[in-house]
Amino acid sequence: MTETLNIDVTLVAESRIQQLDPNNIVFGTVFTDHMLVADCINGVWQTPKIMPYGDISYNPALATLHYGQSIFEGMKAFKNDKDEVLMFRPLENFKRFNISAERMCMAQVPEEIFIGGLEELLRIDAAWVPKGEDNSLYLRPFMFASDVYLGVRASQNYRFMIIMSPAGKYYSTPPKVKVETEFIRAAPGGVGYAKCAGNYAASLYPAKLAQEQGYTQLLWTDAIEHKYFEESGTMNVMFVKDGKLITPNTSTTILKGITRDTLLQIAKSMGVEVEERRVSVEEIISGIENGSVTEVFGAGTAVVVSPFAAIGFEGKDYALPAITDDSMSTRLKNALNDIRTGKVEDTFGWVW
Ligand code: PMP
Repeated sequence: MTETLNIDVTLVAESRIQQLDPNNIVFGTVFTDHMLVADCINGVWQTPKIMPYGDISYNPALATLHYGQSIFEGMKAFKNDKDEVLMFRPLENFKRFNISAERMCMAQVPEEIFIGGLEELLRIDAAWVPKGEDNSLYLRPFMFASDVYLGVRASQNYRFMIIMSPAGKYYSTPPKVKVETEFIRAAPGGVGYAKCAGNYAASLYPAKLAQEQGYTQLLWTDAIEHKYFEESGTMNVMFVKDGKLITPNTSTTILKGITRDTLLQIAKSMGVEVEERRVSVEEIISGIENGSVTEVFGAGTAVVVSPFAAIGFEGKDYALPAITDDSMSTRLKNALNDIRTGKVEDTFGWVW
């Protein structure tokens, strides 16, 4: 719990929650009754406001629209059996947000606004956190440059906001993913480790080309040689080889996923050997062929783990064994889900 934060609260006259069908939620389309808005004017944070969710209007010269100083976070809240609302490792998202802000030359957001704002919004809109194992409330803190000015420079004013959107079960069959050897997601010294809007814009075109070739998403490789794995779509990537859990070590080109870190810690606590190091495409392709690589999966907040059915490399698909209840990815996913939804005791101190 953070210190009491002074927030100006304006509540909706009537909640829209009756319109929500918890059994039929399309991700990212429905938003809770309220949102948080906090402005940083010339380096001074103004009193945050919680207000009815709705449109905001802007001057066409808004700096973020032209030069892209824009960052965000993605996190989830759950409801346990006692109807308590739980967040999972929110301080990690808070820290990563300010790391992104620093790289994009934006204002740092105080903890009492980021965490305190999330707590207060969740208190007010608690009814919107859906119950049930596969349901959650997706939390989206974000910040953008709010100067009205066309010169290229770091904005002097920023707007921080939090919006929240109920999320249901994510159905997917294991996807086929393509090793990308032409386009890159991030280069050393660039902004790959920041959760900035432009990273996502730059990934859309290569992803579209891969989809036209029959792949669901991309496995990004390094910018220099296209030899080493980096990430997969908007997830970190993990491999099971000879029973060990292996993942690329983080660097300036890889987003430090909170799920990645969590799964590594859970795996270690299960006695699984963990390696964080460079992982070459060659190592994994030959490992799939000789049977030593048994699982490849993405790791991220949205689905926890997404096991891949096959990897496409230089025009050939390399199929992975089917996932079972005993697969490492299944066991890790269940362990993490049980902790973040409050089903088991949280011995790691992750649940807020
Ligand atoms: N990489 C990228 C590029 C992402 O967008 C995400 C999602 N935030 C991740 C990895 C996974 O991070 P997390 O586990 O914190 O959701």
